[in-house]
Amino acid sequence: MKSKIRIAIDGPSGAGKSTIAKRVAKQLGIDYIDTGAMYRAVAYKLLQRQIDINDVMVLTDMLSETDIDFIDGNIILDGEIVNDKIRTHEISRMASDVSALQIVRDKLVALQRKMGLHKSVVMDGRDIGTNVLIDAEYKFFVTAAASERARRRWLELIEKGEKIDLKQVEADIIIRDNNDLMRKLNPLKKAEDAVELDTTGVTAEEVTDKILEVIKWQ
Ligand code: C5P
Repeated sequence: MKSKIRIAIDGPSGAGKSTIAKRVAKQLGIDYIDTGAMYRAVAYKLLQRQIDINDVMVLTDMLSETDIDFIDGNIILDGEIVNDKIRTHEISRMASDVSALQIVRDKLVALQRKMGLHKSVVMDGRDIGTNVLIDAEYKFFVTAAASERARRRWLELIEKGEKIDLKQVEADIIIRDNNDLMRKLNPLKKAEDAVELDTTGVTAEEVTDKILEVIKWQ
């Protein structure tokens, strides 16, 4: 294995990226950066302050006073742990809209690059292999059938006590896939040099093992 490694894991919502990325990071003893959580944190702050995403001046000010970090596996927004607060269905929808904005992407991509500058990391998202860490040592593109991804997300929400219909979650996943694929700025796309892994009907352990195997042999 190389001395400093940056592992990029991209793919659509609900493909299992974060579970897999967390496991890979733990096995290798390196940091895990959940970039989706960063877009969610921005969406959460906008919602808290009732800021209109079209109000560029207010949004710019807000972003200049926004601090996002990961400490001991927690996501910290302006000094507050927001792990659970950013995992609601409402924030998922809003994060998708927020992630299409240039000023938001500029701020978060700069932060993400800084996080991968001096240390080994596993970073998951939509544009890590194609934009954030274009020279990452290892790149993976994790997919799964839309129906399975919706089911996974629905189970997560139900376990957290949200009352939501599977059909609603499925419809939202399709809208978010479309937003991710069609947006002008850094759309979801497999990097040419990424290894593609389909997680439909496969456990997170199996996918993690596959990734660790690729890292061992490359
Ligand atoms: O992965 P997760 O569902 O938590 O991501 C939240 C939102 O942030 C997604 O809708 C996605 O569009 C956006 N995102 C992004 N670029 C990333 C990571 C997430 O646009 N690198």
